Parts: sequence; structure tokens; C-alpha cells
Amino acid sequence: MSRAVLAVNEDRSGARALPPDVAQRRLGQRREMLVLQAMSYLLGDIVLWIYAYAGTVPIAIPVTFLLCGIGLNGLFAALSETGASDRFEDHFLTTPQSASNIVLQLGFLLAAPEIGYLFVSVMFVIFGFASLRMTSREAIILWALTGAAVSAIFLLQKAPIALPTATTAEWLAAAFSFFVTIGQCAYIGLFGSSMRKSLHQRTVELRLAYLRIEELAQTDELTGLPNRRSIVKMLDDEIARGHRGKPCSVAMIDIDWFKRINDGYGHPAGDEVLRTLAITVFANIRANDRFGRYGGEEFLLVLPDTARDEAGPIVERLRVMIAELDWKAFAIDMDVTISAGLATLAPEDSSDAILARADRALYAAKAGGRNRIAVDRL
Ligand code: GH3
Ligand code: MG
Ligand code: MG
Repeated sequence: MSRAVLAVNEDRSGARALPPDVAQRRLGQRREMLVLQAMSYLLGDIVLWIYAYAGTVPIAIPVTFLLCGIGLNGLFAALSETGASDRFEDHFLTTPQSASNIVLQLGFLLAAPEIGYLFVSVMFVIFGFASLRMTSREAIILWALTGAAVSAIFLLQKAPIALPTATTAEWLAAAFSFFVTIGQCAYIGLFGSSMRKSLHQRTVELRLAYLRIEELAQTDELTGLPNRRSIVKMLDDEIARGHRGKPCSVAMIDIDWFKRINDGYGHPAGDEVLRTLAITVFANIRANDRFGRYGGEEFLLVLPDTARDEAGPIVERLRVMIAELDWKAFAIDMDVTISAGLATLAPEDSSDAILARADRALYAAKAGGRNRIAVDRL
């Protein structure tokens, strides 16, 4: 990598700088998540205020919970807004966020065991969200540590852990809390399924793009025929079949005096001739035959399951068809003819060998006066 590229992609600390649109999109996603998290804290705090109003817990509990929530969310918001989160592989900082939120819930489970199930239920929600983004390893470690901590608190806590519903206010707080928690669980499920759907959509789009690229890489842009690499690959496949006992013939086809066509009528007219020839031949060969553009004004016709005696008339028919096409429609005095060199697969032949023989035959056809086919007799 050159110095200039390094300077563009890396900042002084060596961290990779994100393209601005990506950084902006990520920041938006993090803001969305932090707003949801802040809302969860507020809803949780409302429940605590009701319990404080009911006299179940001291007012210090909702006050501290609110302050802790503001502190924790503020810290992660600062990391997010300054772009510091972008330095980490998971820019949502899922593991540190969920771990610190769980520690907070554990603290309140210890501080207010009389409404302890409230904090335990919040842990379910934290885990549901976190496991959408954590690695399995991180999730298992956090699960084991949280499970151990909750079990230890349940074991060692002297006061019973509960969620009282004796008075109307307490009932209201508990009902509201479960209402919110169930909603949050449903939201996590829906969020997961929308992530899966968009992932599936992306996979389908990627597969289509890949198929299109593959198709483009095999197609000649001007004529739409298989390009040289592709037609030679087809020939290789047919040769492999041919060596299993099937005959196979190939014809190297070249337009006669094509340079004159270009010179006389212009390059665009030459292109049109190439396209017309390609369509004409393609429309008049058998379904199994393969036809591709081998180079400039040279084409390759592969005739599977076709012995020399059969191949001759097929290629001759194409030659006559091209010569008799109404080329005058392109230009008043235009005539286009082709010459072809025909070769048939011999035992142990490679594609190079059969192509060289077809080329030799083509040369003979040209030398013999053009607008004709010549057959290589091996
Ligand atoms: P011959 O009968 O001996 O084959 O003569 P020729 O003029 O056809 O052969 P030559 O090899 O001298 O010229 C081939 C010409 O084909 C030269 C080149 O400019 C032209 N050509 C190659 N590719 C294209 C193309 O994509 N479009 C057009 N219009 N012309 C092309
Ligand atoms: Mg030519
Ligand atoms: Mg040529």
C-alpha cells in the first residue's frame, strides 16, 4: 500500500477511518439503540417511582436508578458521538454495554430485594438484545457470570427477593413492569426477524449480482455471444466428452476482407456486420452447437456429436446463408462472405491442437480464394 493510500484510510492511531456515509449510518443506528435504551430506563424508573410512592422502597432507589441510567447511557452516548465506538469491531459495544447494564441490575437486586424480580426481568431483556449481536463465546461467558451472580445473591441475600402486589399501587407497578417487559421481548423478536429478512434480501441481491458479473465475464459485449475464454472452455468440455467416444468438429470462421468493410463503410457499420453475422449463425445452428466470438472478426463454431462428413455440409450451409444475406440493406454495394476452416477431433487432441488445425484449414480457405470452407484432413 502506498503512503498516500495509507494517509487516506488510516488516522494517526492506525485505526481505519470509515467513509463518511458509513460512519453517519452507524452513528444513526447507535443513536436509535441508545434512545431505546434510555426509554427502557425511564419506563423502569416509572415502576420504581410507583413502588416508592407505595412505600415499598425508599425514594433513594428510583433516584439512584435514574442517575445510574443517565450516567451509563451518557457514557455510551459520548463514546458513540465522538466516534470512539467505531474503533471497535462491534461498534455497538454490545458486550461492555450489556455487561455494565447487568452489573447495574445486580446492584439494584442487592439494594432492593423487596422488588428484586423487577431487576431480574430486566436482565432477560438485556440478554435478548445483547445476544442478537454478541458472539456465542461472549454470550456464554456473560450468561455464566450473570447466572452465578444472580444465584449467589439469591443464596446470600437475607431479605426475601420478591415483587409485592398487595396494594393497588404495588399491583399497578408490577402490572406495568410486566406489560413493558413483555412488549420489549416482542420487540426483540420482531427486530431479530427483520434483521434476518434484510440479510436474506441482501444475500439474494448479492447472488443475482454475482450471476450477472459471471455472465458479463463470459459474454462478448458487441455480439452477445460467448467470448473467447468462454467458447474455448465449451470446446474443452466437448473435447472431454469427445474423448469418451463421441465425435466432435470445430469450425474457425473468419469474415473475408473485413478490413475493407471497415475502411469502406466505417467502423460502426463493421460492428453491425459482426452483430448480424453473429445473430444469423446463432439462429441457424442446432441447440447443442456452441458458437462464440474468438477474436476481432473470427468466430468459433463447436459441433458436438458431429463427424467430419456431417460437419462439412453444416458449415457450408452457413457460408451460403451469409453470402446470400441482403447486405445491400446496410450499404448499397456491400457484400459479406466468410471463410471457414474445419477440423475434427482426433484421439488425444487438446483444444490447442484442434484449434491450430482449424486455423490451418482456414488459412487454406483464404489462400484458395475466400468465401469457401476448407477441411483439415489431419
Ligand atoms: P481476410 O479476408 O484475410 O481475413 O482479411 P481481413 O481484412 O478480414 O483481415 P484482417 O485481419 O486484415 O483485418 C481484420 C479487421 O477486423 C481489422 C480490424 O480493424 C477489424 N476488427 C476487429 N475487431 C473489430 C470490431 O470489433 N469491430 C470492427 N468494426 N472491426 C473490427
Ligand atoms: Mg478476416
Ligand atoms: Mg481474421
